[in-house]
Amino acid sequence: MELDAMYAQLGVSAAVLQLGERVLESLKDRFAEIDATAEFNQAKVLHAMQNNRVNATCFAATTGYGYDDMGREILEKVYADCFHTEAALVRPQITCGTHALAVALSSQLGPGDELLSPVGRPYDTLEEVIGIRPSPCSLAEYGVQYRQVDLLPDGSFDYDGIRAAINDKTKLVTIQRSKGYQTRPSFSVKQIGELIRFIKGIKPDVLCMVDNCYGEFVERIEPSDVGADMIVGSLIKNPGGGLAPIGGYICGTAACVERCAYRLSAPGLGQEVGANLGVLPSFYQGFFLAPTVVAGALKGAIFAANIYEQLGFKVIPNSTESRHDIIQAVELGSREAMVAFCKGIQAAAPVDSYVTPEPWAMPGYDTDVIMAAGAFVQGSSIELSADGPIRPPYAVYFQGGLTWYHAKLGILQSLQKLVDAGIVTLA
Ligand SMILES: *Cc1c(COP(=O)(O)O)cnc(C)c1O
Repeated sequence: MELDAMYAQLGVSAAVLQLGERVLESLKDRFAEIDATAEFNQAKVLHAMQNNRVNATCFAATTGYGYDDMGREILEKVYADCFHTEAALVRPQITCGTHALAVALSSQLGPGDELLSPVGRPYDTLEEVIGIRPSPCSLAEYGVQYRQVDLLPDGSFDYDGIRAAINDKTKLVTIQRSKGYQTRPSFSVKQIGELIRFIKGIKPDVLCMVDNCYGEFVERIEPSDVGADMIVGSLIKNPGGGLAPIGGYICGTAACVERCAYRLSAPGLGQEVGANLGVLPSFYQGFFLAPTVVAGALKGAIFAANIYEQLGFKVIPNSTESRHDIIQAVELGSREAMVAFCKGIQAAAPVDSYVTPEPWAMPGYDTDVIMAAGAFVQGSSIELSADGPIRPPYAVYFQGGLTWYHAKLGILQSLQKLVDAGIVTLA
């Protein structure tokens, strides 16, 4: 059977496939660049694993308190080495990215301290962590003040505004690398470095934390290479490589990470406790695979940008921009188009492909959200997934794909559903 017949069997028409192939022809150089970055990052991960003498005993399960868990300790050294930090906390007890960020923030901030976001509104779920939207146990409830400086209309940093916002009480600055559910640009690691240098020039002892979600391994350097005191992320995104079934990480200075460990477990216990319950093989192997998986996801994002831009939709980043995370936003303009797009992603999945995604009120978000994912790990967004809040400009955020070929199929299927719904007409 030929490839086009195989695609037809999956429900992708010849017209959709041909458009895809035409777009791919133009992307050879960009894909080669992505492969070169993946090669670099693969070497970086391998070097960290070899340096720390990863061996089969690292994969053993521990239970109970998890004292003397060598596999856990070596894994944390691998992360710290790879991201060039003094220390790391990499745990299945960190339930998700929001939890990792909540631990990082609440471990460093106390009553009377001020938290500053110099990059505008933070990710939706952090609004309750901070207390921008009231929630029990928010930082605001514990007397932590919050200040925000919005980006300038062109998406750049408002340096004058940031200078004016930093004061005696400013203790920690939170910088979100990825756009999240916004249509601003994601920041390059170089831009983040410039921002950190500016902030530390005004107040050297302020802590700079970077929400690194979706950014890991997209570039050759990470925010910890350019002055961040802490970088924070989720293991069901990039660094888990699709294999980690749960978890989060915080890498940073020894002082910061120690406080994070006390906050995560208990004062006095810190990093010494936390049984691994047998998940470490997936953490190690996922980290090993992560550079390649991220490369596949990036190819998918760029492919989607080029297809949808050609069809007249606004895509962020656009078809030619450089990439700083794996997220691709496509402004589809209507609820119906968002649903059709997500149906296509769902139909391409290895798991739950027969399910129809519908918008729903998801905890932590203030509007209905639609999500398409047929993932091996629930909610894993390093696996092929699309989601977005149902509000103008009706942007769907597309990300992931454990293999490039799966990402490609998902994008073709999304287009097929838009064609089938009469929203897109192919010439
Ligand atoms: C995904 C994400 C989070 C939150 O992570 P969850 O695992 O969904 O809790 C925070 N910030 C950014 C930028 C993200 O992309």
